[in-house]
This record gives sequence, C-alpha cells and structure tokens, in this order.
Amino acid sequence: MKFLVHTYGCQMNVRDSEAVEALMIAAGHEKVESEAEAELVIVNSCTVRQKAEDKAVGKTGYLCSTGKMTGLMGCAVKRLGADVFKVLPKLDFAVGPRAFGMIPRIVASNPHHVLELGDDLVPEGLDAHEVKGFQAFVTVLVGCDNRCSYCIVPDVRGHEYSRPEDEIAAEVESLVRNGVKEVCLLGQSVLRYGARDGKKDAFPHLLERLCQIPGLERIRFTSAHPSGCTDELLRIYRTYPQVCRHLHLPVQSGSDRILKEMGRRYTREEYLKAVRKLRDFDPEFALTTDIIVGYPGETDEDFEATRSLMEEAGFDNSFVFKYSPRPGTRSAKLPDDVSKEEKERRNQVLLADQEARGLARNRKLVGTVREVMAEGPSKRNKARFSGRDGGNRIVVWEGEAVPGTIVPLRIVDAHAQILIGETI
Ligand code: SAH
Ligand code: SF4
Repeated sequence: MKFLVHTYGCQMNVRDSEAVEALMIAAGHEKVESEAEAELVIVNSCTVRQKAEDKAVGKTGYLCSTGKMTGLMGCAVKRLGADVFKVLPKLDFAVGPRAFGMIPRIVASNPHHVLELGDDLVPEGLDAHEVKGFQAFVTVLVGCDNRCSYCIVPDVRGHEYSRPEDEIAAEVESLVRNGVKEVCLLGQSVLRYGARDGKKDAFPHLLERLCQIPGLERIRFTSAHPSGCTDELLRIYRTYPQVCRHLHLPVQSGSDRILKEMGRRYTREEYLKAVRKLRDFDPEFALTTDIIVGYPGETDEDFEATRSLMEEAGFDNSFVFKYSPRPGTRSAKLPDDVSKEEKERRNQVLLADQEARGLARNRKLVGTVREVMAEGPSKRNKARFSGRDGGNRIVVWEGEAVPGTIVPLRIVDAHAQILIGETI
C-alpha cells in the first residue's frame, strides 16, 4: 500500500515513526509524501498534555472520514484503551507505544477495530532504520520508572527496558556504515540506562563503547537528570570530543516545595550543584531545560524561585509548558487552581527572560571559533548555510559545505536563538 505516517510529540515518537516507516517499506509498502496519494495513513500520537492528544485525535478523526485505511499509534492509544474506537468509530487499528512493530502484520490482516496495547512488551523493530542523512536517533531506553506526580509517560510507555549494549553498538555501527555521522541516543531519563538491571554507570560505559566506532563524529543524548551527572560521565566528556557538550536537563521548577510535590528527587541546590559541575568543567557547556508553569498550588513566590533558578543556571534555551492535569497521575487529584490567564502570564515572563538570557549568553561567544556540523541551506535565508555546534546552537554563515562535515567558524554576531559565523 501507499502509506504515510504523521507524527505528533517528542523525539521518541519521531524515532518510533521512522522505525514504522522502515518496517513498512521492508514489508513491501511504499512511503509517499502527500496525504492525497496515501491509501493508508498512520498517526503517531502524544498525550503528555491534553492539547497534544486533542490535536492527534482530531487529525485522525478527519482522516477516518476520508475513507482511507487509518491507524493510530503511540501514547494516546495506551491512555484511551478500548475507548479509542468510541472516540474514533471508523478507525481501523490502534497500537500502543510498545507495539508499533506489529503494524505491518496488522495491515496485512485487513484490520477492523484491531487494538494492540503492547503494555510492557519489549518492542520489536527498535533497530529498523531507513537512513536518510548523516543524523539518526537511536532508542536506548524504553519507558520510565520515575513517577513524577504530573506525568502520564510511565503509564503509557510502561516500565524501563534498557536495550543490550551489543544490540545498540551493532545498530550504531550499521548506521555509520550507511553514512551517519551523528547519533542522538534517546530515553525518557536516559542516564538511568541499565539502572533497573542494577548496573552502575552503565550509560557512561555505553558512551565509551560507542566512542570506539570510527567515523562516528558526534554523540548526543536526551533527556538527562542531575543524579546522572556523575564523575564517570564527566570523565567521558573530558576524554572523548565526540560526546557533545550539551545536556537537556529538565528542571520543571525552581521551588523546593514544588519539586518535592512533583517527586523530582532533587532539590534546587542539588540541581544547581550539577549545573556548576558541568560549567566548572567547561563554561561553554550548553544547558537546556523544560519548565512547567501553573502546577497546582504554584504561588508567585514559587514562580519567582523558578525565574531565579533559570537565571542562576544560565540556560541557553528552555521549553515552557503550561500545566495540564493528566488522568490517573497523582497531581490530577489536586485542584488545577492556577488560572489559564496566570499560566499564560507566567509562560510569557519566562519566554521574555529566556530571550534576554539567550542573547546575553550567545553574545559571549562572539569572537570564539565553533566546530559546526553543516546541515544544509538556512530555512530563513536560502543564500546562507546552517549547522550546529557541539552545544546544539544553530550557526548560519555565508558559504556552503557538504552536509555532515564539520566546519570551523568564527562567530561574528549573535541573536537569542542563532549565531552568525564566518569561515576562517
Ligand atoms: N522524560 C523527560 C520528559 C518527558 S515529557 C524528562 O523527564 O526529562 C516532556 C516535558 O513535558 C516534561 O519535561 C515536562 O516539562 C512536560 N510535561 C510533562 N507532563 C506535563 C503535564 N501534565 N503538564 C504540562 N507539562 C508536562
Ligand atoms: Fe515523566 Fe518524570 Fe518519567 Fe520524565 S522522568 S517521563 S517527567 S515521569
């Protein structure tokens, strides 16, 4: 069949969709670019906030009405369970986030209301790739064993499963043979890789193993937690230039009271200690974060604590989310008592702070030379080329390069989200 996958949500979903595309192609189906051409459309859904779920379900409802074969996969399926067919009566099949490997078999069965939740299954097809460029995502850790009070991810993605190191290494070696130069290792709390199996420092050791692969120029990973910023991880940063000096280190809040209620397992001071450790090692170490505004009971004082923490940590970028109660989570039992308007106001304040802070931080890089991996023509200005430095900062310059090669560039100007470079 001619098929198309639409993806909503996080990088984990982007990766799962890629795997589905590769599995479908291997089963003899043809991937097409436009909805009009497709005979089968699969929507990969998110449910981390209600709005995200509504978008994916709304899109699926529309597709069902077109008469094409329609499937829904991902986190919203697991949350809705059998109700998915009440919400979407014309849906042909639905698979949970750990069951995407079953899609080719389901499609072959001419499905009607087929539901595979997958629960705590070890997903099949995790290593299926259709290599498209010089970058690839690699899932190393599935699921999440943390139980942050607001988060539905552990309910929908199930318990942690760390893939065997040999399997991951074989996958990365094969990607590199096919032209990949940069991998991003994925896990909800990726530094917990191996933790459930009682292994200590399993993640730094996985990194060290992957650093032995010739031709693999960059390794990134996401998301991190301060408890994983160990001396062993620092040793890996110090020893291997391939490991990019950027961490996405979601903090969620700067108030100790809220952090405790959220069950984040660190205090403000412990978080900042991890930040200092990384920045003492390399002052240009890039840090990005996630913040939730309007958590139940968040006062002005709590919010100001978040603002000051963000300033102290000096985040290079941040993603701000308005609290959305998720059914079945601990915090859903608390009144969602911060008004919509106040959540929006706090959101805007943090965005403005970040804009100013991002600009100030980027200005400090003017005059430095950054190792930039070329990606392609800049989206905003086709006459310029665009790439990223090790800190994941976007750098644009007048010139051209082969995508996937590393170019040293001198930074001559800075904006909040972009650096302007010059060839040397
Ligand atoms: N595994 C990642 C986060 C996955 S969810 C980690 O723990 O680091 C991505 C982000 O969505 C979270 O960091 C959080 O900021 C936000 N988020 C999760 N649940 C939310 C909710 N109920 N309301 C608003 N934002 C939420
Ligand atoms: Fe959700 Fe917390 Fe797990 Fe992240 S670590 S996926 S926020 S429960």
